[in-house]
Amino acid sequence: MTSIPQSNYTDSAENVSEEQKKSKISFLKNSLSTSTQIWKSKLSWRITLAVFLTILAVQAAILNITLKEFEYNELNTLRSIGRAALVSSIDPKIQDLLQSPISETSANRVLSTTIVNGFVVYSSQFDLIKTHGEPVILRASSFDDFTKTYRSNDGASYEVVFRNTELSRPYIIAARLDSAKVQGAVFNYVKQTILIMLLMSALVTTVLMIALGRWLLEPILFMRSNLLAASKNPEEPDLKDSPFNSNDEIGSAIEIAQMLILQNADNLKRIKSTAEDKIHKLAYYDTLTGLPNRTLFLQTLGDYMRANGEEKTDRYAIVALDLDHFKDINDSMGHNVGDAILRGVGKRLRAAMPESATVSRTGEDEFAITVKLSSSINSARDVADRVIDVIRGEPFKVFNEGFQVRASVGVATFPDDGVDPDLVLKNADIALNRAKEEGRDSVKEYSEEFDKAVQVRFQMLRDLRDALEHDQLNLYYQPQLNLQTGEIIGAEALLRWWKPDNSKEGGTFISPAEFIPVAEQSGLIVPIGEWVLEKACRDAVSWNKEHGFDFRMAVNVSGTQFTQSDLVAHVEKTIKMTGINARKLELEVTESVFMDDINQTIQILKNIHALGVELAIDDFGTGYSSLSYLRQFPIDRLKIDQSFIRNALNNSDDAAIARTIVGLGHSLNLKVIAEGVETKDHEDFLVKEGCDEVQGFRYSRPVPADDFVAFVKGYNGKLDSFDS
Ligand code: C2E
Ligand code: MG
Ligand code: MG
Repeated sequence: MTSIPQSNYTDSAENVSEEQKKSKISFLKNSLSTSTQIWKSKLSWRITLAVFLTILAVQAAILNITLKEFEYNELNTLRSIGRAALVSSIDPKIQDLLQSPISETSANRVLSTTIVNGFVVYSSQFDLIKTHGEPVILRASSFDDFTKTYRSNDGASYEVVFRNTELSRPYIIAARLDSAKVQGAVFNYVKQTILIMLLMSALVTTVLMIALGRWLLEPILFMRSNLLAASKNPEEPDLKDSPFNSNDEIGSAIEIAQMLILQNADNLKRIKSTAEDKIHKLAYYDTLTGLPNRTLFLQTLGDYMRANGEEKTDRYAIVALDLDHFKDINDSMGHNVGDAILRGVGKRLRAAMPESATVSRTGEDEFAITVKLSSSINSARDVADRVIDVIRGEPFKVFNEGFQVRASVGVATFPDDGVDPDLVLKNADIALNRAKEEGRDSVKEYSEEFDKAVQVRFQMLRDLRDALEHDQLNLYYQPQLNLQTGEIIGAEALLRWWKPDNSKEGGTFISPAEFIPVAEQSGLIVPIGEWVLEKACRDAVSWNKEHGFDFRMAVNVSGTQFTQSDLVAHVEKTIKMTGINARKLELEVTESVFMDDINQTIQILKNIHALGVELAIDDFGTGYSSLSYLRQFPIDRLKIDQSFIRNALNNSDDAAIARTIVGLGHSLNLKVIAEGVETKDHEDFLVKEGCDEVQGFRYSRPVPADDFVAFVKGYNGKLDSFDS
């Protein structure tokens, strides 16, 4: 906009005169170029040619008229000269009317010295009296002939009749006059006239061209150059001020065009700036809460850090928080409630922080805050405590219902815990994950040890990937027994990782409790789970063939396998591939699988069940199974979590839970198996409570396949054989 001269549209007299000067100079420059351009202008040529031809046509018409008059006058003059010559040669003394009044001598003189080349003398009664010189074609025989003339084809002679009144004598003379000069005069007249005509046309045309150039072409070219400038750069058109008078049509057209161009530029800029605002909003702000998003948060953090300079005198708190079990609220109450809570959390956080703080929504239920530490907020921990306070405070009201929300908070400080935005936020996130792992609803401050723990996890993940590729994973088996009959009714396949190292044992066992969560978080559990299922099925099939074992094989399946793979297809494929009897396969799932999309989970379980495969809920009693849903799950078995069995004898609550699970299972027509059975007392308790099946160290620890086969073969089928 700045490059567009505005003076035309302002009232300032100084401006106007200054601008006028400028525009005059530019006009002069323009006119130089237009004067050359005018000869190239097709429009000018067409108009000029039309005008030129019109002038020519008009002049030709005029010439046509004036030429006749000119010739007529010339001939008349010739006639007068001829008459004078004849009259002066008439001899007044000759009175004989039958004789020519011009003597032979006079006649010869007239013929040789004047324009009269020949003549015929008639009496006033039209009687031929005498012929002199060249023959005369025109005859005088009546009064009508007086007005007649004759012109030879070559125009060299002109014949007229002089009546007696003209000659002042009673004679009539028909004379042949030399009209060659008239011919020449007419020719000269035409030549001159045409020359004048051409000069006039040229003059008019030139004047017209100049006028056209000045009043039509220049303004049009001026307008064209401005339109071109506008089309090249519509937002900032390089417009020149119009030097043309806006009183005439073209001048006002130019003014209107200029105005439209400027309006268009304004509109474009407005549209662009609103679009840019919108894009900026979309790119940098969260639409739900209106808070800055992760990108803007990191940018702002970067700005603070740069502004802080090398000395790093200012310190900033970086606080990351994640709402606990937000997914449950979303799933059970719907997204409207979830969204309202997120908006509420955003508002509370914003209100709890000083104006200078940046509060942002960095993920679905994740928020981050950065604030400069000062005397009023002197530690990152202070910020975190405020956060926890405002979240825990009043329940969030949505549709008149109160929702108590909790959050896990991770805290890091700049520059202590990192000097670049990504790193400090990552460290705050690491602290946040720690808070979540350690039971949620708490604050954790970042410590370098967390980092080490993360490093260890990453290393474990790499090693685990290696282990899967290099066959370092193995399955151990633990028997499951019928509590009434004592017979072996199943085996649970438990994953073992023997990790070779430089120790004298040659390696260490890594507990599944340690590496399964890492495998789940990374998704590596999917290929591992597939390997486990296939291996367990193959072992079951080979035991059946070689040793006639006909019991169930129980395989643990993680929630991640439900969400990140097509579990049904894989189970079906493995059954076909290994040839296991589907009814002899059981999948153990924990209640955590029901925390994801419950309807989808039920569908997957139904599809697996439809293959004939049995389903057990592992670690039952520790999770969030809703009793109303339990009915809909196509399950066959509840597996009481070992913690209840372990404590059943000395904790009445745990005993009651174990008892309840047995009752609940039976009322739903499910088998109930207890795991973690270590002692005879545990067994007795379970027998008393009517539990159906048992698994635990009392009978066998999980052992390698060969040992397991040996165990089964050596077992006499009686539970009391374990009493010793
Ligand atoms: P889980 O499925 O509940 O397995 C039972 C765990 O209890 C096993 O631990 C087993 O060794 C242990 N256990 C059995 N009887 C007793 C007992 O009498 N006393 C005590 N104290 N413990 C007993 P393990 O093998 O360390 O496995 C831990 C967990 O790792 C399993 O719990 C299961 O959730 C997971 N896991 C093991 N293998 C796999 C697998 O192949 N896939 C998946 N997704 N998870 C697996
Ligand atoms: Mg299990
Ligand atoms: Mg278990």
